[in-house]
Amino acid sequence: MKHAQYDVVVVGGGHAGCEAAHAAARMGGRVALVTLDPAKIGVMSCNPAIGGLGKGHIVREIDAMGGIMAKAADASGIQFRLLNRRKGPAVQGPRAQSDRALYKVAIQKSLREQPNVGILAGEVVDFVQTGDRVKAVTLADGTVLPCMAVVLTTGTFLGGVIHIGHDRHDGGRMGESAVTRLAHRLRDLGLRTGRLKTGTPPRLDGRTIDWDRLDTQPGDEDPAFFSFATRRVAVRQVACGITHTNARTHDIIRENLAKSAMYGGAIDGVGPRYCPSIEDKIVRFAEKEAHQVFLEPEGLKDHTVYPNGISTSLPREVQADYVRSMVGLERAEIVQPGYAIEYDYSDPRGLTSALQVPEVQGLYLAGQINGTTGYEEAAAQGLTAGMNALKSTRDEGPVVLSRVDAYIGVMIDDLTTKGVSEPYRMFTSRAEYRLSLRADNADQRLTPLAQAAGLIPGDQWAAFSAKLDRLTSVESRLAQMSITPKAARAAGIEVKEDGQKRTGMELLAFPDVSFEDLEGLNPSLADVDTETRVQLNRQALYQSYIERQKRDVDALNRDANWTFPPAFDFASVTGLSSELRAKLSAVRPESIAQAGRIEGMTPAATMLLLARLKHDERRAS
Ligand code: FAD
Repeated sequence: MKHAQYDVVVVGGGHAGCEAAHAAARMGGRVALVTLDPAKIGVMSCNPAIGGLGKGHIVREIDAMGGIMAKAADASGIQFRLLNRRKGPAVQGPRAQSDRALYKVAIQKSLREQPNVGILAGEVVDFVQTGDRVKAVTLADGTVLPCMAVVLTTGTFLGGVIHIGHDRHDGGRMGESAVTRLAHRLRDLGLRTGRLKTGTPPRLDGRTIDWDRLDTQPGDEDPAFFSFATRRVAVRQVACGITHTNARTHDIIRENLAKSAMYGGAIDGVGPRYCPSIEDKIVRFAEKEAHQVFLEPEGLKDHTVYPNGISTSLPREVQADYVRSMVGLERAEIVQPGYAIEYDYSDPRGLTSALQVPEVQGLYLAGQINGTTGYEEAAAQGLTAGMNALKSTRDEGPVVLSRVDAYIGVMIDDLTTKGVSEPYRMFTSRAEYRLSLRADNADQRLTPLAQAAGLIPGDQWAAFSAKLDRLTSVESRLAQMSITPKAARAAGIEVKEDGQKRTGMELLAFPDVSFEDLEGLNPSLADVDTETRVQLNRQALYQSYIERQKRDVDALNRDANWTFPPAFDFASVTGLSSELRAKLSAVRPESIAQAGRIEGMTPAATMLLLARLKHDERRAS
């Protein structure tokens, strides 16, 4: 069948593909989203949750750029928790557990309602080039879709192999086929590919769990949403159950390690160390007597429960044994066994920072295919690739977010410069500018830039502009205040009697001064709305730290040439994770600059190395 010419064809309907298609269409492009099974668009392959530390920041950034993940997470959220609530706003991470079915419905609705997105069922097996420019994709049934750019977001499907104990079969996700022809095509193109793995726990029937014997964890009373537009929860909220592994659980797992696909030698791919399987936990943390397991309901009308913390590739009967060894799970029935999946990824160092394959004009890669793990990381890459794919069709230069702009910029810079040796996920420690890359100011950082690229719908721009007007007008009122220490103290604000006059913003920067305190000095501030108060308070609080952060980062760049003495003992540097100590000891970088380029190194870790070198030098002199 002959198809119309598309601007962009997006291959895959996962988290990367949906954002890619939506972004290119928001910018006015004609888009086709081709996926194996359109009914599975927006499926959460693993845990029914969005956000968390670092990841939550990414979701806010996606929303700030007009994307769809945040609104879908809010619409389907059955439990909201702001992680690190007691720490500063820079490292707080919004997280929500989703009703899996409602999340999918929300994503599919966003795509349906977005003009210019056509959804097609099919397997993309090849793409056609004219010279070095892509001009069409070919489906397994021979259909050719002419287009000017292609975004590949094939997730865990390329060369996917599923393992449960010694059983293995090809598959991209449980119950879905793997993709082999496209995997070969990418290898033929000369893209460097490797194998990674990830795993998922068994799903339990909630009706067979003894909830009365479990501790519970409710959500927050004042939920922190992902989207700047969300004002209230959309559906009923639920609590999670908590149980623990115990000596018996550990014995069962230890006795059966040889039957685990990961430990029996069946899997070559590297898995995420920070998201270990239960087998890994028992082996690596042998001294621990128990591990916490959160029992997360998968939906309001679904009895399935996701036991967070026990992903596995042990045989099904062993899974049943160890699950039933835990309190409250003695009668638990498994509705789907846990499994591990191995898949091809493409080395992201082969991509530009717009996520384009440089050898093929118009070809972009986004999501798990680039070696990341996680819905949020995939979605953010999808948005970036979709936007830049469309821009390429208009001969416009790419929009590239830098490490100063966004966590999305940090991730893409890490991927394209350092590559991955294990599935990459976001952490706040990866960002050197984390005090300014806060979840609360994602819109101020990114919405104007996204508006310029054509990504922001009219209503979102109007709401953002009104918010910004309120912020700037109140900020200028605060900046015009000139308060003597005496006047401040008379209003109950404790400042030094140093004779120095201060503006309202300077007063607000003191940790124990609130916006309400300023009303005593300027009663006209009483009419300022809560959102503006809270935001200005945060901005004032962080201002001086942000200046210090900039000095630290500048110093780090200046000190990049510091070298390590030949006998430097990386294992003895305190504050580094054991993974990083092992990696540094193996690689033995010669300089700070080289250490910073090692995959997995964070700016905070580089800072620790530099501090140690300076300390050693001081002692020697
Ligand atoms: P996916 O969501 O995998 O979507 C890929 C899409 O591409 C699908 O719609 C598929 O139909 C389509 N597709 C593939 N090939 C073709 C083709 N040739 N033609 C047409 N369509 C095609 N993340 C975590 O953060 N933590 C975890 O613990 C975790 N565990 C996981 C465990 C398992 C078993 C799996 C499968 C995934 C796990 N993930 C985990 C990863 C998470 O699911 C992914 O990071 C995320 O879904 C990736 O999004 P994506 O859009 O890149 O790909």
